[in-house]
Amino acid sequence: MFIGHFAVGFASKSVAPRTSLLWLLAAPQLADILWPVFLALGWEHVRIDATATRFSPLDLYDFPWSHSLAALVAWATVFAVVYWLVTRYGPGAVVLWFAVVSHWVLDWITHRADMPIYPGGPRYGLRLWDSIAGTMIVELVMFAAGLWLYARATRPRDRIGRYGFAAYVLFLVVLYIGDRFSGPPPDVQSLIWVSIIFAPLCLVWAWWFDRHRIPVDAEQKEFLTGNSLGTV
Ligand SMILES: [Zn+2]
Repeated sequence: MFIGHFAVGFASKSVAPRTSLLWLLAAPQLADILWPVFLALGWEHVRIDATATRFSPLDLYDFPWSHSLAALVAWATVFAVVYWLVTRYGPGAVVLWFAVVSHWVLDWITHRADMPIYPGGPRYGLRLWDSIAGTMIVELVMFAAGLWLYARATRPRDRIGRYGFAAYVLFLVVLYIGDRFSGPPPDVQSLIWVSIIFAPLCLVWAWWFDRHRIPVDAEQKEFLTGNSLGTV
C-alpha cells in the first residue's frame, strides 16, 4: 500500500490537531521508511519479480524488522515515547502509536501472505494486490477521506498553506497513477536509493505547507485568548 498510508497520516490531524503533519505522515509510513535502510544494511531482503502480484512486482520474502507486527508495536512505542518526551502532547503520542501499527494492518490487507506476526513467525496477507482496480479504488477512497479530514481540521494561513498542500496532493496522485504505467524497478539497488531519498522529501514538503495552515480549533482558541498555540 502506498497512498493509503498517507491517508492515515492526513486523517489523524483531526484527532491531534497540534501535531505537525511531518510526524503524522512519518508514523504510518515508518515501516516503509525503515525498510530501504534495512535493505541497504543487508538486514532485510527483497527480490524483483514481475509476477509476484498483479499490483506490485516485489517478492517481499524477508522484512521482519521493518514489517512484522511485533516489530511495529515496538517501533510504535519508541516513536510515541520520543514524541511525547519532546512535545508533552498526549493526543499526538497516542495517535502516532496507532498510526505506526496501522501500517501492518493495511499491508496485511494488500500483500500476499508475506506479513509476519513476529520475526520468523507465521505470515499473512489478504492479497488485495491481486486486483489492480480493487487496490486503486480502496487506496484512492481512503486518500480522499484522509484529505477531507485534514482540510476540515486546518485552514490555510497563506498561499503556501493553500497551494503547497494542493501541489503535494497532485504530486502524490500523479506518482501513484504514473507508477501503474511504469515497469518494475531495474534492480534492488535503485529501488533502495529511490526509496531512501523519497521519504525525507515527502516529509519535509508536508512539514513546510502544514506550518502555513492553522488547526481550526486552535484558531478559535487563539481568537478568544489572544495566545498563539503552536504546532508541535
Ligand atoms: Zn509497507
